[in-house]
Amino acid sequence: MNKMIKILVIEDEKNIRNFIISVLNAQQYQVIPAVTGREGLSQATSQCPNLILLDLGLPDMDGMEIITKIREWSSTPIIVISARIQEDDKVLALDAGADDYITKPFGNSELLARIRTALRHSNRLHIGGAIVNRPYRCGGLLIDFEKHQVTRDGQEIHLTQNEFKIVSLLAKNCGRVLLYDHLIEHIWGPYSENDNTILRVNMANIRRKLEPNPAEPIYIFTEIGVGYRMAEEDPI
Ligand code: CA
Repeated sequence: MNKMIKILVIEDEKNIRNFIISVLNAQQYQVIPAVTGREGLSQATSQCPNLILLDLGLPDMDGMEIITKIREWSSTPIIVISARIQEDDKVLALDAGADDYITKPFGNSELLARIRTALRHSNRLHIGGAIVNRPYRCGGLLIDFEKHQVTRDGQEIHLTQNEFKIVSLLAKNCGRVLLYDHLIEHIWGPYSENDNTILRVNMANIRRKLEPNPAEPIYIFTEIGVGYRMAEEDPI
């Protein structure tokens, strides 16, 4: 099935590029390699890939510029590859329209999981509302969006309206990181102050209610300095 999926890999470091290509080839994805930003952009236009892996540190162009250019005409999922030192870049990249990021060094299972998540979400967009409203299930946790109901191992969990909104938004985007600002704007509106405190307080309450051990979350993870990521759903 993967044979039908084309992945553009824009990465100038030969070792990393070759690693990614061999991992993707082993899963029978079609791989289009590009060494520079310019080459990447031209391949993105001519090949119409299903997904783009983009290194932010390229010799000829800023990775951020590439994201902006691609987003002018395409909603193809973009996963950014960033070095650990580029914390701020992750936020900027997501803001510019990237779907996710992966931090170097990464292993093949992490890379493949991110790719599957990004592809699944891009498919969802085409399928429409029906799939999005299917309940979220993960290790005993069940979120029924229609009924506004959250249960863990069959026990109902009572969330406030805002807590439910936060959990729903994260669950509908499970596997992807959501930025603090994005969450705040979505829950409290565009004119709310960009103050993380209120979000952190809500998240602490959510974890106390949801997580078996709030100190070691298994459902909602913190991406330090960036946002939150909800665990992937159980496979159907
Ligand atoms: Ca690089």
